[in-house]
Amino acid sequence: MRVIYGGTFDPVHNGHLRLAVELREMLAVPELALVPCHIPPHRAHPGAGSQERLELLQLAVAGEPGLVVDDRELARGGASYTADTLRQVRSEVGADEPVVLVMGADAFAGFDRWRDWQAIPELAHVLVVARPGYAFDPDSVPAGLLRTRGCGSAKELASAPCGLFLYQALPLLDISATAVREKICKGLSPRYLLPDVVWQEIQRRELYGFRLPQGNL
Ligand code: ATP
Repeated sequence: MRVIYGGTFDPVHNGHLRLAVELREMLAVPELALVPCHIPPHRAHPGAGSQERLELLQLAVAGEPGLVVDDRELARGGASYTADTLRQVRSEVGADEPVVLVMGADAFAGFDRWRDWQAIPELAHVLVVARPGYAFDPDSVPAGLLRTRGCGSAKELASAPCGLFLYQALPLLDISATAVREKICKGLSPRYLLPDVVWQEIQRRELYGFRLPQGNL
C-alpha cells in the first residue's frame, strides 16, 4: 500500500508530523510519503518558495525512517494538481496496489473544485482526517461522497486499489501553518509547534518575516 500525504507545508509543523506518524501506524505501512506542492492551485501564494518548503520538510523527517519526502510535484513544475500526481504514482505501482491519498477535512471540503477531481477515486482511496471544530455542509458534494462511497474502517482500504472514502478521527494537535507564520511574523516564538531544526533553519534563512538581529549575520 502506498500512502500519499500532500500539502503546502508552509512550513511543516508538528500537527502534520504527528498525523503522519499516527496514520503510518494505523495503516501499518512501512513508510508514508509527504508530498509538498510546487504551486498550490487553490490557495494564496505560499510564504516560502517550494524549494525552501521541501528542504524544511526534509529536515523535519530526517532520522524518522517511516516518513519520506516525495518531491515529484516540484520536479514536475507548474501547478500541482493531485490527479496528475496520483496518475504518476499509479503508473509506478501498477493497477492492483492500494494507493491512499490523505487529507484533512478542511482540504476535503473543497474537493469537488479540484481539477479533474472525479479521476481521483479511480486512482486512489481518499482518507479524510477529521479536524477539530470543522464540520461539513451535509449538502455538499464531499459530504455526499463520504455517505455514498464511504467505508467503515482502514482495513477495507487494503481490499481494493482505489475508490473508497474513509472519514477517520485521529488524535490531532491543534496547530496550523497560518498560526506558525503569524507568530514568526509578529516576532513571537513558534517553538514546540514545529521541530527545533525547522525553526532554526527558518531563522537562518530569514523566512516568514523573521529577521536576524543586526550584527548576527
Ligand atoms: P495553512 O494554515 O497555511 O492553511 P495547514 O497547517 O492547514 O496550513 P497544509 O499544508 O495546508 O497545512 O495542510 C496539509 C494537510 O495537512 C491538509 O490536508 C490539512 O488538512 C492537514 N493538516 C494541517 N494541519 C493539521 C493538523 N494540525 N493536524 C492534522 N492535519 C493537519
